[in-house]
Amino acid sequence: MIVDAHLDIGWNAIADGRGFPGEPAKGYVVSHSSLQRAGVGLIFATLYAAPGRARRSMRTRFVYETAHEANLMATAELNYYQTCGLKLIRSRSELDAYVRGWRRGQVAAVLLMEGADPIETPAQLGGWADRGLRIVGPAWGRTRYSGGTHAPGGLTVLGVQLLKAMHRQKLILDISHMADQAVADAFELWRGPIMSSHSNARELVPGDRQITNATAAEIANRRGILGISFYQHHLRAKGKATTDDVVRHALHLAKAAGGPEHVGIGTDLDGGFDSMYAAMRDTRDFATLQRKLRKHFSATQVEGIMGTNWIEFLRRSLP
Ligand SMILES: [Zn+2]
Repeated sequence: MIVDAHLDIGWNAIADGRGFPGEPAKGYVVSHSSLQRAGVGLIFATLYAAPGRARRSMRTRFVYETAHEANLMATAELNYYQTCGLKLIRSRSELDAYVRGWRRGQVAAVLLMEGADPIETPAQLGGWADRGLRIVGPAWGRTRYSGGTHAPGGLTVLGVQLLKAMHRQKLILDISHMADQAVADAFELWRGPIMSSHSNARELVPGDRQITNATAAEIANRRGILGISFYQHHLRAKGKATTDDVVRHALHLAKAAGGPEHVGIGTDLDGGFDSMYAAMRDTRDFATLQRKLRKHFSATQVEGIMGTNWIEFLRRSLP
């Protein structure tokens, strides 16, 4: 089973009119059918809302100015997932039952919030957890909780409260998009399950959106997983990215983390960029990626990177 730890399906549908059922919209890669065909069985489906200042970069008018607006937008995405009939995995026992009975063609999801502004106050987190939220990434750009991409800074006072609330709710922390200081703060405060859903190696492609070798090593130390993004600008400094670049980042992150059992994929496909900027044009290319990985890793290790590493992580991290 392939597991993809980062897909902005709700945002694609609601902000951009690219529905999940059926075939992918023209020029895009992901839809229910394309995931089914590729053998993707589990996705981390995001609740993502763009702040007003990202109107231009995200080419959207679907933006929030206040936390309440962010809440309404994330709620719309959650409702969308329910409308699509996407099965949400909320516990270890649900995961085990799903994996045991999985057949090609089935796709289930774990809910991941990317940028925590939709959580209006940390006290509201319990309500989100009740509705199935299991993973929280406090940052995207800067949020009320954390410094983020192109927005240096640590966890805010509210961010520290959020981590405490996450601990009480037994949620998982996603450090993707967190600024370096915020990651350092989280390493100091957080003792629960930790991961990066879609962050590549900074040593290969510079920039604060990427993770350092030290961060990769620390996440691995805590038995977390590092998901590789398939976005061209995360994969290489210039030129067209291919699955060869995904392999390059897998090798690098595996080395930094002390082994490929800490590496997975979190493609981010179609999350604000079309297939022109993706490392693959069709989900069938997952098979190509697997073949290329096999030149460097054992069959079991490749299976791990393509999915079972995330499943094992969820098995020890979900309530
Ligand atoms: Zn992202």
